Amino acid sequence: MRRKLLLGNWKMNKLNSEAKEFALASVPFAKLAKENNIDIGVAPTYLSLATVKEFASKDMIVAAQNVHFKESGAYTGEVSVPMLKELNIDWVLIGHSERRTYDNETNEKCHAKIEALLNNNMVPVYCVGETLAEFEAGRTKEVVGGQVREGLAGFAPEQVKDLVVAYEPVWSIGTGKNASSQIAQDICSFIREELRAMFGNVADEIRILYGGSVKPVNVKEYLSCPDVDGALVGGASLKIDSFEELLKNIL
Ligand code: PEP
Repeated sequence: MRRKLLLGNWKMNKLNSEAKEFALASVPFAKLAKENNIDIGVAPTYLSLATVKEFASKDMIVAAQNVHFKESGAYTGEVSVPMLKELNIDWVLIGHSERRTYDNETNEKCHAKIEALLNNNMVPVYCVGETLAEFEAGRTKEVVGGQVREGLAGFAPEQVKDLVVAYEPVWSIGTGKNASSQIAQDICSFIREELRAMFGNVADEIRILYGGSVKPVNVKEYLSCPDVDGALVGGASLKIDSFEELLKNIL
């Protein structure tokens, strides 16, 4: 049985003081989530990771938004796995479409980062999704299938059972244009079958999230799809009231 997962991606938002305020206010929701067998978490900027870890409930997942695949060295501006581990950060978003678009994050780079995380028993949240042009050209499965196969090639089934995959059609991120729940289900089910071809029945343990303009008003519809195990939420995860509503609407 896969536990539901609600994960907020704060992107480049929130001062450290605002992150602290959110973390403190989120304590009761983490309790509520736990009582209902739901995992919740947020991905703050690097600068606020330690703050959120300190002031949020220990049941709140705190994820980084990126990591470098090398342990240390001459990589100006980067942060490594041991640096995150020292802060007890075990979850990391990999391959978010904004990083693929603005930071040349390729499937190959994602693979190297996922490998570094899995080797350290950390949880990658591997983001995949097609652009509007690819969607309109009917290439969604070709693109998403390639991202899954290339990003996850060569790992052993036992390594990937805790991995999370997030299907986020690029055309629906931050645009208010939702993919229908039918599209979300079709593509999440397709991803699960790709995972099954690669890893066998472990595919049934891997959580697959939908992301793209998820709001309190539509979150329940997505989570009622059999292959959608949760949501990766940008805009609607920023305000504590809306985060609370997202959670309450899926209880
Ligand atoms: C995201 O950043 O992963 C995302 C899905 O953003 P939004 O919910 O704002 O579309």
